[in-house]
This record gives sequence, structure tokens and C-alpha cells, in this order.
Amino acid sequence: MQKYIPKMYKKNIFDVNYEKLKKNGIKCILFDLDNTLLTVNSNKIDKKIGNFINKLKKDFSIYVISNNSNKKRLEIVTNTLDIPYIYFALKPLSFGFKKIIKKYGYKPNEMCIIGDQIITDVLGGNRIGIFTILIEPLESKELKITSINRFLERKIIQKMENLGKFKKGVFYE
Ligand SMILES: [Mg+2]
Repeated sequence: MQKYIPKMYKKNIFDVNYEKLKKNGIKCILFDLDNTLLTVNSNKIDKKIGNFINKLKKDFSIYVISNNSNKKRLEIVTNTLDIPYIYFALKPLSFGFKKIIKKYGYKPNEMCIIGDQIITDVLGGNRIGIFTILIEPLESKELKITSINRFLERKIIQKMENLGKFKKGVFYE
């Protein structure tokens, strides 16, 4: 069960304690795309989110790691932010994470992932030993594959809640 528990849990990307990340030696932030930076039906990053990401670039190297297989979409989105991306990352598998580690030379303890799904973002990050941050999805509309994940996620959350290890909506850092 431990591998499903995020190290930090916040409502959105703005609420994440980036000072704490910096203090803990985090140099590289991997952002999930769908429902973390962008709603599912949009190709355009919200201005507020875009500006915020640009500010974060002063302190961190930023990457997008998405399970979305639509390369064109990833390109359009990340081009506006001018950040590198991994698409079709197959989270929670380690493939995409390893690609970034290999290419940019970070150690796992210098990295974190911010995403809206326990089954992909948190589990994948915990497996590879990077700091994991769960946020609430931007909206309830999801990709088809995600609704299957959510079904499993609800079961996992229920289990974690029963064990007193996690509670939906109770944020912490
Ligand atoms: Mg997502």
C-alpha cells in the first residue's frame, strides 16, 4: 500500500510547497499533462498556469511526462511552454522516468513528479524512488483509459482510508 501514498498532496500545482522541494534538494520537476497542466479537451495551456511554470524554471528543470500517445498534442502544448516532454510514457512503468534520468543525468532523489493520478503518477514515481506529489484533477472530464484507472484508484483510496494512511481532500506536505 505504501507505494500508492504520495509524499505530498495538494489541491493544485499552485499550492505545492516548492520552497520545501528546493530545500530537500529537488532540481527537476516532472509534470503530468492531462488534468494536471491542461484539461483533456484543450490544446492550450491556461495563461496563469503558463506564467507559473515559467517562474518555476528559475529554480527547477521542468519536463512533461505524459501517458498520452498523441505526440502532436504534446508538441503543441510543450512548445508554448518551451519544455521537453516524454509522450506515451506508460506510467507507472519506469520507462519514461528512466529516459529522463539517462538523458539529463539526475539522481532519483533530485527529482519529483506532480500529477493527478495515484495509479500512474504516484505509483510510477514511488517505484523509481522519486518524490511524489498528488494534486486534484483540473476537471472531472477524463480520457477513457483514465476512467478505468479512476475505478481502481477509488478502491485503493478506500483501502488507504481504512488503514488511516490517506484521506481524499485532506492535503499535506
Ligand atoms: Mg493526468
